[in-house]
Amino acid sequence: MQRAALWWLKRDFQLADNPALTAALDEAERVVPVFVVEPSLLDAAETSAFHVNAWLDAARELRARLRAVGSELLLLRAEAIEAFERARALWSFEAIYSHQETGSALTFQRDRAVARWCRETGIAWRELPQSGVFRGLRDRDERHRRWTAWTRAPLLPAPDAARLARTALPDALRPLAEAGWDRPDAYGFPSPPAGTGTTQPVSEAAGQATLTDFLSARGIGYSGGISSPNRAFRCGSRLSVHLAWGTLTARAAYQATRCRLDELKGSPEPDAARWRRSLTSFLSRLHWRDHFIQRLESEPEMEFRALNPAYEALVFDGPPEWLAAWRDGRTGFPLVDACMRCLRATGFINFRMRAMITSVACHTLHLDWRAIMRPMACLYADYEPGIHISQLQMQAGVVGINTLRVYNPAKQIQDHDPRATFVKTWLPELRDIAPERIVGHQASPVSAYVAPLTDWETSSREYRTRYMAVRRLAETRQSAAAVLAKHGSRLKRGARRS
Ligand SMILES: Cc1cc2nc3c(=O)[nH]c(=O)nc-3n(C[C@H](O)[C@H](O)[C@H](O)COP(=O)(O)OP(=O)(O)OC[C@H]3O[C@@H](n4cnc5c(N)ncnc54)[C@H](O)[C@@H]3O)c2cc1C
Repeated sequence: MQRAALWWLKRDFQLADNPALTAALDEAERVVPVFVVEPSLLDAAETSAFHVNAWLDAARELRARLRAVGSELLLLRAEAIEAFERARALWSFEAIYSHQETGSALTFQRDRAVARWCRETGIAWRELPQSGVFRGLRDRDERHRRWTAWTRAPLLPAPDAARLARTALPDALRPLAEAGWDRPDAYGFPSPPAGTGTTQPVSEAAGQATLTDFLSARGIGYSGGISSPNRAFRCGSRLSVHLAWGTLTARAAYQATRCRLDELKGSPEPDAARWRRSLTSFLSRLHWRDHFIQRLESEPEMEFRALNPAYEALVFDGPPEWLAAWRDGRTGFPLVDACMRCLRATGFINFRMRAMITSVACHTLHLDWRAIMRPMACLYADYEPGIHISQLQMQAGVVGINTLRVYNPAKQIQDHDPRATFVKTWLPELRDIAPERIVGHQASPVSAYVAPLTDWETSSREYRTRYMAVRRLAETRQSAAAVLAKHGSRLKRGARRS
């Protein structure tokens, strides 16, 4: 058994089903939990107050649970290597345990530097998978079999109190324990206004409670409910923040859902069929999650260039001031603006609206998908680089293996907000206007409201023409076939849809 190790927390703030923590406790006598707040990540264009609040929320709960058994969560405010060196100067450790992170270029480069530093210093760094995303996966055909095995494997139990007591902070490290670290304002980020309930709490307990509530009450409305910006707040699982920051594993959610489906089998309850449809559809989303993260894991360059290189020829020439107008909810398209303002307040919007705001940015305002990537990441409390970048490219149309979907915001209001309830909630300027003056119109005909930045019909048609000119090229079709072979889903069409 190794003598001493660090458990380096990244996106895994949970005690249950935590492979890194489990391995550390199996293999080391003394394990110190460390969360490193890196200035380079705090300063990054992809980081926002939503994310810092999520880290600290999760860290506070974990610390409380560790303190209950006389342990501590050590927070170090430094770049990762500097943090490890500081710790090593006071206390010698032989190994670091962490989960395998599929992150943006920033954390990927950081991990490479840490790997080099570990080799130079003779410290063993064990990175353990915590999801059905596979490092070094060469054969995409293998993925589904491995994913199924991973997802159905028994969950790892949370360590009992005696085992957890081995995470007590050594006296030598006490001088590093900082006070007052758990408030976002300590890092120059605002805290959410107390008690408004606009953002979700992020902790292992909240993750479990959200899952239980979804499976026992809210989930019945999932199928059909998640397309509506009004209903998705309740009918969606709302697990994304927990899955993104690691206060719940996707396989724990998957297994609990399978149990619930087993209970519903042959149930005489009148709602059983509706429940089954909803939960089956939810399970496929959990599969998509790892499917999309695997793309970034296998091709990290996709943060910077289109998966299908032929689409690099597409011209995005929207004026830069349109980017700010889109981000701040001032495009003049009421549903788009309502979504952006909702995001700024809550950090959440449903999938369909995320696809629509992406489409309007890229296809109507002609903004490059790379230009909206980080501003949009900042608005998502559940920012998960693998899903985010993959979905962004897909909705922009630069993956090229799906049909291009150009969303019409006027039609989206008609279909999903027919009484303009959502629009009026987030655009107080329109509160006293009759719904029929908003619904079905491309922009609100109210003079008090900002005029659209551009004509939706003309701009979107122009984009489609540019897009189709690239799509028809023989080289585009060839690279689309290569993308499909490398990254396409291997599930049958019926199984992929939900
Ligand atoms: C441009 C764009 C960017 C996005 N960025 C993110 C992001 O940064 N983080 C994020 O978690 N989701 C992202 N999504 C996917 C999706 O919108 C959210 O996962 C979902 O709205 C979260 O709500 P929920 O947890 O209630 O979802 P549910 O519908 O209950 O789904 C359960 C879980 O499955 C996963 N999931 C759901 N839909 C998808 C999907 N289409 N692709 C991959 N995984 C999915 C998520 O982990 C989600 O929490 C993005 C979608 C688009 C179009």
